[in-house]
Amino acid sequence: AVVTRFGPSPTGSMHIGGVYVAMIDRDLAQHSGGRYLVRVEDTDQAREVEGALEQFHRAFTYFGLSPDEDSRTGGGYGPYHQSERERIYLTYVRELLYQDRAYLCFATKEELDDITARQRATKLPTGYYGRWAIWRDADPSDVEAKLNEQAPYVVRFRAPEVTTQRARFTDAIRGKLEHEANRNDVVILKSSEQSPRLPTYHFAHAVDDHLMRINLVVRGDEWISSVPVHQQLFDALGFEPVTYAHIAPLMKQDGGSKRKLSKRKDPEAGVDYYIDAGYPAQAVLYYLRGLANGRLAELPLAEALEEPIRLSEFGVAGPLVDLVKLDDISADHIATLSGQQILDAVRAWAAEHDPELAGVLDAEPGLALRALAVEREGVENPRKDLKKWSDFRTVYGFFFPQLFHPLHGAADDRIAELGLAPELARTFAADFVQGYRHEADGQEWFGQIRDLAAQHGFARNAKEFKKNPEAYPGSIREASQLIRIAVTGSTRSPDLHAIAQALGETELLARVSAVTK
Ligand code: GLU
Repeated sequence: AVVTRFGPSPTGSMHIGGVYVAMIDRDLAQHSGGRYLVRVEDTDQAREVEGALEQFHRAFTYFGLSPDEDSRTGGGYGPYHQSERERIYLTYVRELLYQDRAYLCFATKEELDDITARQRATKLPTGYYGRWAIWRDADPSDVEAKLNEQAPYVVRFRAPEVTTQRARFTDAIRGKLEHEANRNDVVILKSSEQSPRLPTYHFAHAVDDHLMRINLVVRGDEWISSVPVHQQLFDALGFEPVTYAHIAPLMKQDGGSKRKLSKRKDPEAGVDYYIDAGYPAQAVLYYLRGLANGRLAELPLAEALEEPIRLSEFGVAGPLVDLVKLDDISADHIATLSGQQILDAVRAWAAEHDPELAGVLDAEPGLALRALAVEREGVENPRKDLKKWSDFRTVYGFFFPQLFHPLHGAADDRIAELGLAPELARTFAADFVQGYRHEADGQEWFGQIRDLAAQHGFARNAKEFKKNPEAYPGSIREASQLIRIAVTGSTRSPDLHAIAQALGETELLARVSAVTK
């Protein structure tokens, strides 16, 4: 069974790539009957951002990626925050010091800068190793003197002598790899001036992955170059090595070139983009699964969410995030839902993001369901008019008097654009209200408008009107558009008869009557 972990650092808002990796973690664990846990990597306290942790939890909850073990759920391998594991790390640091696999380094910033400058000048790779490592083989009495002075120090790993230039390893996605062997005495414990005394990522992940019985590490491919030092650390600590799967980053098409999807430049890089707009979590996960394993994009959503992700199917190049594709997937998905399911989801989204809409839906659930049934229920191809829950207001808002009436001025402008004489528009609307029969079926219903249009001298169709524009105020098209705009505020809408039935006679006539004033 596979035991995976996701290791978010609360140094900023969550990247959608985090959802991608956490989804892979959870999936691999679940399908092997294993465990998936979340370990908060908060060893960089200076860069910590307030509220980041809450945002992670919100995203995990939204996307259904809550782990089997973490600081909230609990588990037998905690604490699950690295900042609370100081004593554990110190135990292992001490162990390495006893075995002389680590040493105290008192090098000052100036000394380190100087080393780097000299390495650059001689075109040597920069780092703290070999003849540059001034504290590596220091005299114990010098160390003691420094300690007595209370000089600050870090603990460095004593990199083993390497016999080959290249380190070889196997990655679960990329297969056999090799990279320059590590000769750098990396820092494993940060400055003694800090409290708590926290380890670096290199050391913490080795200790934690071992103690938390992780056997598969799924992480970003920016860590590939660190595998040689990680192998050395696992070896020095006497730990079984873990398997690494290095994931290529999500990419963005930027003009003619591709680059990493970046939180700094691209709003869609942040998870909040999807949560705030109200993309259904399932649609986003389905989309991400398709990016991970192309085969899954070919399957229908429900199946693709059940099918396992396979590491062997990942590409080495990062997949492109395409929001147009996501919109299509999401609209297709929402079109499969019932009106009640959509209403529930929109209501839940609105409670947090659009309180006015939430209030309206609470007051008028029946109207909401009737609105959602228009060209959706009992038809072969339901409307694909919602890509995300925030679209509900734009697409369906006009149904609700509380949302429609404040906008009515805009409808007047659109009526004016039809080019009808104001007096004609008024009498046409008044006569419509006068003779209106709500119970008429669809055909008869439109018949009312047609007959009325003929009475008011409109041409029977657009062609006739075009032939002789001087003879008519407009065609039947302008006449019915007048009613459409009065009722929906827009020149485009679903079937007007169906809308009339959903609205009810009173509200419908109130809207058309407004044109007569
Ligand atoms: N905290 C690390 C990061 O944000 C996690 C890397 C890992 O999963 O090992 O990059």
